[in-house]
Amino acid sequence: HPRTVLITGCSSGIGLQLAVKLAQDPQQRYHVIATMRDLGKKEKLETAAGEALGRTLTVAQMDVCSEDSVSACLNSIEGRNVDVLVSNAGLGLVGPVESLSMADIRKVFDTNFFGAVQLVKAVLPSMKQRRRGHILVISSVMGLQGVIFNDIYSASKFALEGFCESLAVQLLQFNIFVSLVEPGPVNTDFESKLMDQVSKADFPGTDHDTLNYFRNVYLPASKEIFQTLGQSPEDVAQAIVRVIDSTQPPLRYQTNARYMPLIALKYADPSGDLSVRTSYRLLFRGQHFFRLSLCCLRFLSGNCLRPKVSPM
Ligand code: NAD
Repeated sequence: HPRTVLITGCSSGIGLQLAVKLAQDPQQRYHVIATMRDLGKKEKLETAAGEALGRTLTVAQMDVCSEDSVSACLNSIEGRNVDVLVSNAGLGLVGPVESLSMADIRKVFDTNFFGAVQLVKAVLPSMKQRRRGHILVISSVMGLQGVIFNDIYSASKFALEGFCESLAVQLLQFNIFVSLVEPGPVNTDFESKLMDQVSKADFPGTDHDTLNYFRNVYLPASKEIFQTLGQSPEDVAQAIVRVIDSTQPPLRYQTNARYMPLIALKYADPSGDLSVRTSYRLLFRGQHFFRLSLCCLRFLSGNCLRPKVSPM
């Protein structure tokens, strides 16, 4: 019997790629319910799904910020039975915090954090009753390590990390697994939406020095990081499939091995100074130091931190 996989935010990026990859599984092991807030944007997904559409893939409406929309979607599923939930819908927000509106800040938490919490609440009773299930939450390396000018986005992913880590303990008793997938930069619409937001904003209430750091130091570095370290959404989707297929799903899975050294710093120094100072130097002491540090850290940490995912 195919596993029912419900995914949020499938009109673009990682969600779209994952939905298609699972629906086109040669062994037809999944029935994908690919949800999106605006069904007007379903064409790209439907085209990519090809013959899987209507067979192993169903498109449905779901706005993760609306309780009515979440429950209407779940009520349309027989027995509200979801075997695998992938909470993927998310929003970014960059800029000096003093310039951001509380409305925009709350919207990030409403989508990234409360949206996921609402979904988890909705699928848990049936998963618990059936004593099986897998909840995957698309977090980010920014859920493990704070990043300059991404204070709010990073905080929303940290919130998810705390939520999932706590929940995982209770749910083991019910044979339900929780996995946080933590990609580094991924080349999707995500970054272009952010750059669009940045080009339109005038960042009121921000002093000249901060704006200068943001525009002339952070933005070019961020662009460079996306270009040199960015993964494709297909690669991230493939990594997520491995986590879904695993017999012992890990609590955390980082999709980009090149980011592990930075994360390792955090665990190497519990005071936090090492990661704060290294991030500072990476950004403010130029590209040469950036590359050198990355090489050293990669050498030091190797790949030993990579979680092992055992295939089924
Ligand atoms: P994306 O912008 O292509 O996808 C995000 C999707 O979420 C979009 O389709 C958007 O319409 C949807 N969405 C937003 N608000 C919603 C709502 N209220 N209800 C339903 N859907 C909603 O970008 P992506 O890179 O594919 O992002 C997917 C996930 O990956 C996000 O959670 C993001 O935080 C995470 N992530 C992205 C990157 C990156 O660099 N792109 C890195 C790490 C983690």
